[in-house]
Amino acid sequence: MGSPMTPERRQRYLDAMGIQRWVPRGGAAGSTVVPVDPPEPVASPVPAGALGDLVGDVAHLDWDALAARVAACNACEELAAKRTRTVFGVGDRQADWLFIGEAPGAEEDRQGEPFVGRAGQLLDSMLFALGLKRGQGVYIANILKCRPPGNRDPKPEEARACRAYLDRQIDLIQPRIIVALGRIAAQNLLGTDEPLGRLRGKPLNYRDIPLVITYHPAYLLRQPADKRKAWDDLCLARRVMGV
Ligand code: SF4
Repeated sequence: MGSPMTPERRQRYLDAMGIQRWVPRGGAAGSTVVPVDPPEPVASPVPAGALGDLVGDVAHLDWDALAARVAACNACEELAAKRTRTVFGVGDRQADWLFIGEAPGAEEDRQGEPFVGRAGQLLDSMLFALGLKRGQGVYIANILKCRPPGNRDPKPEEARACRAYLDRQIDLIQPRIIVALGRIAAQNLLGTDEPLGRLRGKPLNYRDIPLVITYHPAYLLRQPADKRKAWDDLCLARRVMGV
């Protein structure tokens, strides 16, 4: 599966992130754990009981039943009418790392997979920089499973409706860390309208799982100067994981 990881290909990944290869303090990869402060309390997410109302009770569903429920979901009338297909999420269903973005774009809507295209390639580079690979120990999902027309921001009621599905995925995966990609994902998970700059750079939590906030890859494509800050966030995530 995929091409072999040659030194040249490896360097291209790292160059895409604008980073040096991650080297832990003190020597061999993975040998040093840098302690981090405990997660900060944040605004409470919207109570879970209020979220699933539009999509019914999904808390008992297994993966297949959940995927089928999402594929048939019409809770958001406009999104359901205009989508090509739902974008459920992709990756290792027992992943330690869960990355959550905003919503499918046009290409994701066509292919049914989150983070394809240039932003997806940059996310792959971010994963590589962490020593990770899409599909291996990594699961990728979005706040919304349907594309908002014209790539507009998700409406609050849409995000609320879709949250039950995401929460069930989180319960099934039981990741050791969640990385929120971008403002929309961060604000929705945390139930806050704080700007991303105030949320990143510190360990938070969602549903008692450590949460680290960083920039959306699509933003980083527009603002490559912020790749350095994104790298800092990923290093924080590594420290939170203790690897
Ligand atoms: S965004 Fe989520 S809740 Fe809304 S129609 Fe799509 S799957 Fe259903």
